[in-house]
Amino acid sequence: MSKRKELKLQKQKQIMEENGIIYLDNVTKAYSKGSPAINGITLNIYRGEFVFIVGDSGSGKSTLIRLLLRELTATSGSVYVMGQDLAQIKHRKIPTFRRNLGVVFQDFRLLNDRNVYENVAFAQRVVETPNREIRHNVPAVLATVGLAGKYKAKTTQLSGGEQQRVALARALVNNPSILLADEPTGNLDPHNSWEIMSLLEEINQRGTTVVVVTHNREIVNTMKKRVIAMKKGVIVSDMEEGIYDDNEED
Ligand code: ADP
Ligand code: MG
Repeated sequence: MSKRKELKLQKQKQIMEENGIIYLDNVTKAYSKGSPAINGITLNIYRGEFVFIVGDSGSGKSTLIRLLLRELTATSGSVYVMGQDLAQIKHRKIPTFRRNLGVVFQDFRLLNDRNVYENVAFAQRVVETPNREIRHNVPAVLATVGLAGKYKAKTTQLSGGEQQRVALARALVNNPSILLADEPTGNLDPHNSWEIMSLLEEINQRGTTVVVVTHNREIVNTMKKRVIAMKKGVIVSDMEEGIYDDNEED
């Protein structure tokens, strides 16, 4: 290994050890002139944490998630995920980087012309998992989300809660270190919302770092996790065993 590469790896290791699996260093993201969507955020999320991100619509939550996915790049400051400075990742390395991340959205984003099995298998095919492993992994992850019997079903025949569980299975099948969920229960009734949150908690207990953007006050107040509240692009509070505080939501 070259001296330069060695130094680079050393520096990454240092960032990993001193900071979180997710580390934002004074990050600003502006889409255009005017007030930025993210305005000078510094934040550490450590390996194995479960974190809620709350805040009004427009406060920058989805922008934050998209920065972590490297769908967006910061206007200034640095975003590190697993010790990697995302601004330094070459375009052709982005897919490899994203294997570390599972992601779930409010609107499920399933392939509706394919059945449940294929929706989950697809995520494995993209990363060129051998078929033999896919045939093992997909049923296993579907069982984890309580859909073992539904693998042949069309996604359009499933309830919202079931569709989100398929999306969750797809996010998990490649065994990511981090799971990002952007309002995963936004389209679900209270019962299904709880089912999804319980699954997220279970996944977290097995070691995955989980970051959940949500508006669900009851869930946040009951689960007693770390709660980061955002307002107009800044973090206005960050509490262990936090609550969804109305005063920050004006
Ligand atoms: P949240 O997820 O908390 O509702 P967003 O991160 O989606 O907030 O948006 C934060 C701010 O950035 C809002 O003012 C929004 O209008 C703006 N914004 C979000 N996405 C874009 C975009 N693609 N282009 C321009 N402005 C955007
Ligand atoms: Mg959003």
